[in-house]
Amino acid sequence: MNIIHHGAKDGVTGSCHQLNTDEGKLLIDCGLFQGDESKPLNIDFPVKDIDALLVTHTHIDHIGRIPWLLAAGFRAPIYCTEATAQLMPMMLDDGLRLQLGMKTRQRKRVLNLIRSLIRPIKYNTWTDIKRASTASTQIASSSKSSASGPITSTIASIRFQPAGHILGSSYIEVDLPNGERVVFSGDLGPSNTPLLPDPISPERADVLVIESTYGDKTHESIASRAERLKALINRSLSDGGVIVIPAFSVGRTQELLFDIENLLATSLTDDEKRTWSTIPVILDSPMAAKVTEQYRAFKSLWSQEAKTILDSGRHPLAFDQCITIHTHRDHIGLVNRLKQTGEPAIVVAASGMCNGGRVLNYLKALLPDKRTDVILAGYQARGTLGRNIQRGDKHVNIDGENIAINAHIHTMSGYSAHADRDDLLAFIEGITQKPNEIRIVHGDKHAQEALGGEVEERGLAEKVVLAVKV
Ligand SMILES: [Zn+2]
Repeated sequence: MNIIHHGAKDGVTGSCHQLNTDEGKLLIDCGLFQGDESKPLNIDFPVKDIDALLVTHTHIDHIGRIPWLLAAGFRAPIYCTEATAQLMPMMLDDGLRLQLGMKTRQRKRVLNLIRSLIRPIKYNTWTDIKRASTASTQIASSSKSSASGPITSTIASIRFQPAGHILGSSYIEVDLPNGERVVFSGDLGPSNTPLLPDPISPERADVLVIESTYGDKTHESIASRAERLKALINRSLSDGGVIVIPAFSVGRTQELLFDIENLLATSLTDDEKRTWSTIPVILDSPMAAKVTEQYRAFKSLWSQEAKTILDSGRHPLAFDQCITIHTHRDHIGLVNRLKQTGEPAIVVAASGMCNGGRVLNYLKALLPDKRTDVILAGYQARGTLGRNIQRGDKHVNIDGENIAINAHIHTMSGYSAHADRDDLLAFIEGITQKPNEIRIVHGDKHAQEALGGEVEERGLAEKVVLAVKV
């Protein structure tokens, strides 16, 4: 058995790993490179002999290269959880439109092909991946007796487990015919987030391939994040101006809406209630709105805390003060209005790293205004506009224009959808049987080294491999 990394080797984007065994070849994720890690988008490895693609979750740095995979001739099944199966075409549609400029008809063709390959699987259910003698790969649930047909051989048995990162996210356990178990962490969520349950460590992982986005950092506590958000909103209400929150359409957006609704419903004084009731919470992202609908459709995957709030009659992701902007015309109208009036508003818009999307128009219009607050709630990859704003640049270039930054910039790590160093170590320590090998991927060099060093120090694996050094 061997593992090759086609991405997320020395950074956090482009996730794509290949597991080769005597029985077959599996690809785990096929994501886009972003920011400084951007590369020509083609697939630089052979794809025709790959037996299946397993998808951990629908962030674009984990699925964004799937259209190029198809263009290179890939036609094998794509396995993922049920919620991921719903979200994937939606998220890719956006990419096909924005990155490739494809017209509706072309996009439909590509998305139909992708839909025909997707094989949704329930969480916590073992599924055999079989290779037919014709070399096409078939699915067979392990609970059923194998149907008569072409002679098949089992490549692996796989199981998706909740990763607590975004809706539908999973880590994947892969059992090989030789008895070895390989686990791919995908992106792991932090502990104690209110909307999704925390990930639970696998019982066993002979080889663990684990992300290390925040392998060298600890987040502020989830409990204090809502308090900080509240303080920020209060301050902003007192001096006017807009709070701009760049957010990924899936994950952070819903966590933010959840917290804002919770603040409105439970933690305001009467005075605060009066002022807050005048502030619109604007979700300016048609994609995020569609994703939020999916969050509502998959309530069964929410945490107990979130389900309890729902049972009490509240609507954490669809409250009255939350307005969705759909059309481009309304979007431009709103940007201009906020620029002219400086009236308070909370705007959540994509993209999360400010490297595209409607948030750019808000930043262009509002960064020069000192009343503006920008809350960076997610990871900002090297080379993205978000990273430049975060590191304190006084001017940035947006669409060729030089924009002065007078706005207040805040980083709120408590809204990260990623596990921090302590969460990652707890995930590893929770594995009952000590792994033989831990391969650290999906992190900058320093993050990989820091996590790897700690794993070695604590004796959590026989062998530690850093992808950046492979
Ligand atoms: Zn992710």
